[in-house]
Amino acid sequence: MSGAIATYDLIVIGAGIVGASCADAASADGLRVAIVEPGPIGGGATAAAMGHLVAMDDDPAELALARYSLQQWEAFAELKEAEFSRCGTLWVARGEAELDAAALRVARLGAAGVEAHLLDAKTLYELEPALAPNMSGGMLVPREAVVYPPRVARYLVQRAQSCGAHLYAGRSVQTLIRGGAQLDDGTTLSGPVLVATGCALPALLPQLPMRARKGHLVITERYPNLLRHQLLELGYADSAHGDADSSVAFNVQPRPTGQILIGSSREFSATDAAVSPAMLQRMLERSFSFIPALRGLQALRAWTGFRPTTPDGRPYLGAVPGTTDQWVAAGHEGLGVTTALGSARLLLDLIQSRPPAIDPSPYAPSRMAA
Ligand SMILES: Cc1cc2nc3c(=O)[nH]c(=O)nc-3n(C[C@H](O)[C@H](O)[C@H](O)COP(=O)(O)OP(=O)(O)OC[C@H]3O[C@@H](n4cnc5c(N)ncnc54)[C@H](O)[C@@H]3O)c2cc1C
Repeated sequence: MSGAIATYDLIVIGAGIVGASCADAASADGLRVAIVEPGPIGGGATAAAMGHLVAMDDDPAELALARYSLQQWEAFAELKEAEFSRCGTLWVARGEAELDAAALRVARLGAAGVEAHLLDAKTLYELEPALAPNMSGGMLVPREAVVYPPRVARYLVQRAQSCGAHLYAGRSVQTLIRGGAQLDDGTTLSGPVLVATGCALPALLPQLPMRARKGHLVITERYPNLLRHQLLELGYADSAHGDADSSVAFNVQPRPTGQILIGSSREFSATDAAVSPAMLQRMLERSFSFIPALRGLQALRAWTGFRPTTPDGRPYLGAVPGTTDQWVAAGHEGLGVTTALGSARLLLDLIQSRPPAIDPSPYAPSRMAA
């Protein structure tokens, strides 16, 4: 293919969950799509993720995108490739102040159309008997679920291919050129581009700042029935959306296999992918303080991943400033699995000049120029 020129209606660069969702949506719209991915489909941040589909409510724009996306995830509930499990999310309150905050969150989620219930301590322990004593209650979001993100990404790319999309597997985009992109083997692809390269965004679009935020996860042997819900502490948003250089939060998930997935950590200054025993210990101690029985379980593996993080925590979704044929979908931090499907729909509406279902302005990449 070296030196050859191929023409497309949309060239999707990167096949993580975000690029895969965009390629799928574009192909379903009847566009001639190219997908360029140097590694395994969904092998970047997508493969490192917990796969929790969750509405965070501390930023109204983020809540609107999550809500929109969660509606689309419902179409995957019966799909075997998604490994969809509707375990619900149970937010745990330690202390009355957190329980009061939970009541506000129940109201905020309810106003956005997300079913949520405030729980007293008795109901909390009926739902999750393994919790440590002295919890004050919590909030249950019963319709939320978990999926297996890299498998979904593969499914979406295959679905796009079945609609005619061409996958440039093992190839990367070396540079964006006027009216297209140049691949690392010299191939020129001609057409509008959509850059969905996650943490690697600045290599192609240095004008859009992005930081990689490291996270650790641990997975255990199988312990079916120990836990029933995705569990988080109500203080999780402080870790996720705070600006601390490093933080941990209680975030534990029962996988459909019976394994327990234990998170989560966030670090800005750690740039190597190695597992840090000190960070792992800090993260695990946090989870043991909520579920003491975790201390006795057999861990099988620990890994790290990097969340693509923009300066204001919102993804870039829209036209690259100053261009009409370059688009971007990147920077979803710790919510990119949840918001991938909604991001793709929003972007395709913008590309196709249709009115989007939600206000796109909070995500416009032009906000960085401002
Ligand atoms: C530990 C951890 C836990 C998480 N848990 C959750 C969770 O429970 N729920 C949730 O919603 N989100 C979660 N996330 C966040 C989520 O994983 C990310 O927001 C999401 O995967 C980002 O997807 P992406 O497609 O933008 O990036 P990626 O998955 O990183 O994909 C980008 C792709 O671009 C490719 N690429 C790079 N450069 C080029 C180039 N020049 N040419 C072509 N291709 C290129 C890469 O190879 C890669 O495959 C978690 C993240 C981490 C790290």
